[in-house]
Amino acid sequence: MSGNTTDVIVIGGGTGGYSTALRAAHLGLGVTLVERDLVGGTCLHRGCVPSKAMLHAAELVDGVAEARERWGVKATLDSVDWSALVATRDDIVSRNHKGVEGQLSAAGVTVVRGTATLAGPRTVQVDVPGAGGGRWTARRGLVLATGSRPRTLPGLEPTGEHIVTSDDALFAPGLPSSVLVLGGGAIGVEYASFHRSMGAEVTLVEAAERLLPLEDEDVSRHLTRALKKRGITVLTGARLTDARRTGTHRTSAGQSGTGIRTGTGQSGAGVRTGTEQSGAGIEARVQPARGGETVIAAERLLVAVGRVPVTDGLNLAAAGLATDERGFVPPADWATLETAVPGVFVVGDLLPPPSLGLAHASFAEGLVVAETLAGLRPRPVDYAAVPRVTYSSPQTASVGLGEAAARDAGFEVVSNVLPLTATAKGMVHGQGGMVKVVAEPGPDGRVLGVHLVGPHVSEMISESQLAVAWDASPADIAQHIHAHPTLSEAVGETFLTLAGRGLHQHA
Ligand code: FAD
Repeated sequence: MSGNTTDVIVIGGGTGGYSTALRAAHLGLGVTLVERDLVGGTCLHRGCVPSKAMLHAAELVDGVAEARERWGVKATLDSVDWSALVATRDDIVSRNHKGVEGQLSAAGVTVVRGTATLAGPRTVQVDVPGAGGGRWTARRGLVLATGSRPRTLPGLEPTGEHIVTSDDALFAPGLPSSVLVLGGGAIGVEYASFHRSMGAEVTLVEAAERLLPLEDEDVSRHLTRALKKRGITVLTGARLTDARRTGTHRTSAGQSGTGIRTGTGQSGAGVRTGTEQSGAGIEARVQPARGGETVIAAERLLVAVGRVPVTDGLNLAAAGLATDERGFVPPADWATLETAVPGVFVVGDLLPPPSLGLAHASFAEGLVVAETLAGLRPRPVDYAAVPRVTYSSPQTASVGLGEAAARDAGFEVVSNVLPLTATAKGMVHGQGGMVKVVAEPGPDGRVLGVHLVGPHVSEMISESQLAVAWDASPADIAQHIHAHPTLSEAVGETFLTLAGRGLHQHA
């Protein structure tokens, strides 16, 4: 492969990179996308898509119990065939992958399969396995989209078997009978929820005082209560001090590894999962907030303590760039995502906050960068109005500021909380949950944040995101009629009350 010149070079074919490439190509630019693995990146192959496919299966498992226990449907769950579940999940991933490849090809993007190293501000050396490589130069711009990988902790290096990351959990040979999940952020909560549905004994350990510590306190409270009700042991303000491999992990006969030896564990969900028992596992020592020490034995320790940006081997210095102290590559201009080096842009998980490490944020960033490179003047990404979802059971979905965060930011605040079970559809679902709206006081006060917990709330956050983005008041939203009976009716009712027109909930 010899030297090549193109308009735009994108390094990394994840959601941030491929969205940049697609939009730039649609706008008539010549684009080369360098990807060392598979286009689609983390989200498609190890993140959003496979995890949500698995959580859908988990919902079906939970549905069998609900059908039997609440609705008189004489259903029983025989077993979960992990390999069949994986096959369906992987088919969804594979079809999506082909779709992305097809779209890139149809748009005329040149995809180079290799590892990129910067050789200058707009020059990239690409090593192509088995084909040597070549040097590529960009006339207009270079886009860094190399994403992130799971954070690991010293002493808890993943083995892929008993100490695993979210990546390893996808490719495990079977379902564990007991899991200790370290990290109560979105990924940890989702995996804890999934494994509980699949019948595992689950302990969720979080160092902060509450799960989802960046969300509104009421979200954390409702979620924690619901997870505990499902039999997940939740330890917050707790530190894992030691974890070691045991060759003789004790499991109760047949299936459920009763992991907790402190008497805090709850009974399993009673699902026979076809789990393979290896007989080995992990013994971990955890110091809970209340003091003392809890010893937890589990077949698997899933470390979900965040993600770190990937820049190793990229040779940022060759382009005159450096990471910040946390490893992110900050833009000099958040409106265009251009770095301090003209013509070099950043998207996706490589960006520090206020970017959010979410696929949908990276899509929006890709659009902005591509349009900037094409000479347009796109609107900057409105990070304050990006929805944040945890797809556990129950789900959480939020946009904007939590109540305490709004006060800390200097706003005068009013809030209203409505339990989902205050509505007919919420009662039908019978899973609890809530809607919380945080707003400025007064008839023209703006909606500052909306926070949902409950079934399917990921599908209910969009109207609230418009309310936050468009500086709407509760009265503006309350004016719009919500269908009855729906779960989203609870959102409408929460706004109605704040607007002083509550019908079923009178302030
Ligand atoms: P990535 O997707 O990580 O892509 C970077 C790409 O760059 C990779 O394909 C990599 O191979 C390539 N690369 C790196 N270095 C080089 C190099 N030198 N040369 C060539 N190629 C290189 N987000 C959501 O919005 N919703 C969700 O439900 C959700 N669920 C998640 C669940 C899990 C378990 C995980 C781990 C993440 C989840 N996320 C979710 C986050 C989401 O996956 C990321 O925010 C998103 O994938 C970031 O995209 P990116 O393009 O920045 O990086």
